[in-house]
This record gives sequence, structure tokens and C-alpha cells, in this order.
Amino acid sequence: MRRSDVAVLCNNCGGPKPDDHYRACPDCRAEWRARARKPGGTAERIDALENAVRLALPCLRDDLHTIIESASLPDGLDGEDRMIPREGSMHAHEKRFANPIIKAIRAGEALIGRQRDNKPVWLDRIIDGTRRM
Ligand SMILES: [Zn+2]
Repeated sequence: MRRSDVAVLCNNCGGPKPDDHYRACPDCRAEWRARARKPGGTAERIDALENAVRLALPCLRDDLHTIIESASLPDGLDGEDRMIPREGSMHAHEKRFANPIIKAIRAGEALIGRQRDNKPVWLDRIIDGTRRM
């Protein structure tokens, strides 16, 4: 019998598992890791932090979108009839409100990555620093 004909089973649950050097399947190992977590320990704190960032980022992106849209001159509409702000038309006074939000979004996205939403591409470009406000 060839090795590939032998089903590789988890030592813990008896279910099929990848043919790797572990004796338990990935699900069993993940469950053990979760159970071994210290309450209030580093892993739980990181999860809580990422969850907070995940909740805050959409609000920050909404605020930034609104601030830029309302403080810029229009430069037409996009395919979804949303205003496209004219690049470089935002007044310095409003940039003082937008810049800390951009920094907060960048810090959050550095932690959990960019979350997909229906915001226009120009907003991502401003956050990425490839388009001026
Ligand atoms: Zn298993």
C-alpha cells in the first residue's frame, strides 16, 4: 500500500488531518491554544485591541469622507453619483481636522489591514498619501 492511500487521522478527534508532522488536526490544536490562553493575558488583550480597531476604523473612514467631501470643491461625480473632491482644494483649516484622523486610520490599518467598504477610491488614495486633499 502506498503512503498516499493511508488516511492520516488526528490523534485527538480521530478526524482526517493533513499529512504533516503534527499528531493532531489544525482544529484540535487551535482549540487547545484557545483553552490554554491566560484570562486577560497578551493574546486576549491583542484580540480586544484588534476588535476595538475593527469597530473604530469604519467610523474614522466615515468621518474623514464627510470632512473631505464637505470641505473640498467638487470635481464631478463618480460612477455611483458621489462627489469627487477636487484634488488640493481643501482649506488648511479643515486639513487640521482631517490629518489626525488619517494618522489614526493608518495606525489602525497597520494593525489589522484595510477593511473593505464601499468608500470611493480617492479616499484610500488620500489615506495612502498618493492624493492630496
Ligand atoms: Zn482533531
